[in-house]
Amino acid sequence: MTYIVNEKCINCRYTDCVEVCPVDCFYIGENTIVIHPDECIDCGVCEPECPAEAIQPDSDMDENLEYWLEINRKFSEIWPNATQKRPPLPDADSLNPAMGYEEDKTNDFSENPGPEE
Ligand code: SF4
Ligand code: SF4
Repeated sequence: MTYIVNEKCINCRYTDCVEVCPVDCFYIGENTIVIHPDECIDCGVCEPECPAEAIQPDSDMDENLEYWLEINRKFSEIWPNATQKRPPLPDADSLNPAMGYEEDKTNDFSENPGPEE
């Protein structure tokens, strides 16, 4: 069981989630973040903290979430660990699906790592 970050985080990356995770299992990319599925203890505390509503439990599993589970698994092995909140990306609010942004951000995903702490 794990929680999964989906496409809604892309180009927002508020990082509110990383501060509450009891096992520090978030890994940061250039324009998004992922959860390591084998480290997540399924506590659920990060889900309501996300201003973009980008975190879902794997009990919500569908085709889209299966895609994002593999992204979370792959890039959590590569990107740096993130435990401290950082400023959101510059256009975070205007690209936030929870604030009305309606485009699918899947193709905007960057494979590049985010900054080390
Ligand atoms: S709080 Fe949500 S938008 Fe922010 S980094 Fe975490 S998953 Fe992404
Ligand atoms: S569900 Fe809990 S353990 Fe998993 S990423 Fe969120 S805060 Fe961390």
